[in-house]
Amino acid sequence: MKQLFALIGYPVGHSLSPLMHQAIYDDLGLDATYHAFNVEPTALKEAIAGLKALNVAGCNVTIPHKVSVMDYLDEVDEEAQEIGAVNTIVNKNGRLIGRNTDGSGYLQSLTPVLPAGIEDHRVLVIGAGGAARAVVSTLCRNRAMRIVIANRTLAKAEVLAGLFSRYESDVLAMSIEQAEKELAAFDLVINTTSVGMSPNVRQTPLSLDLLSARAFVSDLIYNPDETLLLKEAKARGNRTLNGIGMFVNQGALSFEYWTEQKPNRAAMEEAVRHFL
Ligand code: NAP
Repeated sequence: MKQLFALIGYPVGHSLSPLMHQAIYDDLGLDATYHAFNVEPTALKEAIAGLKALNVAGCNVTIPHKVSVMDYLDEVDEEAQEIGAVNTIVNKNGRLIGRNTDGSGYLQSLTPVLPAGIEDHRVLVIGAGGAARAVVSTLCRNRAMRIVIANRTLAKAEVLAGLFSRYESDVLAMSIEQAEKELAAFDLVINTTSVGMSPNVRQTPLSLDLLSARAFVSDLIYNPDETLLLKEAKARGNRTLNGIGMFVNQGALSFEYWTEQKPNRAAMEEAVRHFL
């Protein structure tokens, strides 16, 4: 019987996940389909009950349900609890288990460009929203030496830094202005804000004037392909990475959790790039 995988969010019409997952099924010759469902917030509880009743094989969760969905699952794993959000629901013999693949997906996208790992890195994370929390969790779990969170709303960065104080990594919060002044001290700069995302492509989250020549600059945004932040970094001679790899890897990890099979990441990326 054809397997059904799903995405729930509101709205989800713009999502590239269905075409990316279809590329996996085509590559593996799987009889499966991935459907995006628009689920209004008031219908979330019923939607989760529906996933169970229909024995949906696996489900992704996107905005605005990533946090609220946790109330309706049978279990939420430790990493997703720390991140405070679920983007993947695994159906294990009828039990729905919440997981989060955003942070690990991000780290996997860095591995080809930073093969030595991030243990000795001093990292500047710009932003303190949901994506930042996933990235900081992964950086802490992988023992990044120092993590500074800089955000427009400093109080949110302070709360986020406080959540990770039990790790070995030195995690602290800073204003964007202070981070600009101390920019030379970072080896890796990660933009986790939506600043620079289409259609606001002329915006950038901070000035790179004091960026070290050895620093790597990464942006979670993949539309546009190259944000103004990445363009400016590249023009200075710095190495850069956009968010496509994170998007592909978070989807690939979801598929691995659902099926225990390895998907073809190159085919997934090709499908996304082709569409974009
Ligand atoms: P979120 O929870 O709403 O957080 C948004 C963050 O952006 C906050 O830190 C917010 O600062 C900051 N921000 C928004 N507008 C700003 C502005 N005009 N000036 C300065 N800061 C601003 O969103 P999210 O879920 O973390 O997502 C953030 C970005 O990551 C989005 O672009 C999303 O597409 C991308 N993302 C990519 C992937 C991927 O797979 N590549 C996965 C997840 C997310 P305040 O706290 O001051 O409001």
